[in-house]
Amino acid sequence: MGNHKLFGTIEGGGTKFLCAVADGQNTILREIRIPTTLPQPTLAACADFFSRAQGDLGPLSALGIACFGPLDPRIGAPTYGQILATPKAGWENANLVGFFQPRLGEELPIGFDTDVNGAVLAEFLWGAGQGLANLVYLTIGTGIGGGALVNGSLLHGYAHPEMGHMLLPLHPSDQNFRGVCPFHGTCLEGLANGPAIEERWQIKADRLPPDHPAWALEAHYLALGLMNICLVLAPDRIILGGGVMNQSFLFPMIRSEFVNLLGNYLSLPQIADVENYIVPSGLANISGLYGGLALARRASGDPH
Ligand code: ADP
Ligand code: ZN
Repeated sequence: MGNHKLFGTIEGGGTKFLCAVADGQNTILREIRIPTTLPQPTLAACADFFSRAQGDLGPLSALGIACFGPLDPRIGAPTYGQILATPKAGWENANLVGFFQPRLGEELPIGFDTDVNGAVLAEFLWGAGQGLANLVYLTIGTGIGGGALVNGSLLHGYAHPEMGHMLLPLHPSDQNFRGVCPFHGTCLEGLANGPAIEERWQIKADRLPPDHPAWALEAHYLALGLMNICLVLAPDRIILGGGVMNQSFLFPMIRSEFVNLLGNYLSLPQIADVENYIVPSGLANISGLYGGLALARRASGDPH
């Protein structure tokens, strides 16, 4: 039944907005890549794409927007649908839901959340977290961000989790590093995102050889972050994505450091089977677009 429906999805990123229309079987029918400039021209190009698609293919059942944050995903809140205090020029207070709603139809259900909350929902529905109602998706790229599914619901409190900015102890070999987070210096993001690796070692992260000491330090910091996430949220599985995790040899390094750091504190089957506890994305480079799709389907009341 749902197969005849059409869903719109937007993956909103700092360099590009990817828009697509998919059918009820998740087949992408058309897609466009729009460079991220200022909000007005970027969002107008997105709205134009969906208006044309609706003219050609038929009405959308829902639109899902999985976007960089921080943003306000709390339906009914005064700043719902908006980007909050971002350093990205021009985007602070950009109202995405308020832009699309009148242009695409006041009745159109719109799902709006962070890229990582979208990704964790997509991994639950179609990727590496199927059937697991408590999941975390962490991206390690230009930034570090985490989305969480708790008892099957996306975790929202004051807004959404900001796991990338947790504070970590510096490794003894890294005491002089000041970190790259403009707000906190040496938070998880400031210590372990792609730019931190590049700042510390003065070489592009994708050019560091696997035996370089950069990777043991990277695995250490990520394992510290994952330990904290594991202890706070008790997820059934943690899924890692983002550009840095293209270095797939990091996975076994992170897992063994994670087990070391836990120090036998949790004797859980999930920890004993750590290969299935800390895993790569099942959707890889489509997790963002499918994140928007998952948000659209949820907004329309369609669970799959
Ligand atoms: P974004 O976070 O901007 O959405 P990515 O997740 O691709 O995009 O992250 C980009 C960052 O990831 C870059 O800063 C770079 O340092 C790092 N990166 C990208 N590809 C690789 C790679 N193959 N190996 C290691 N690091 C990478
Ligand atoms: Zn920070």
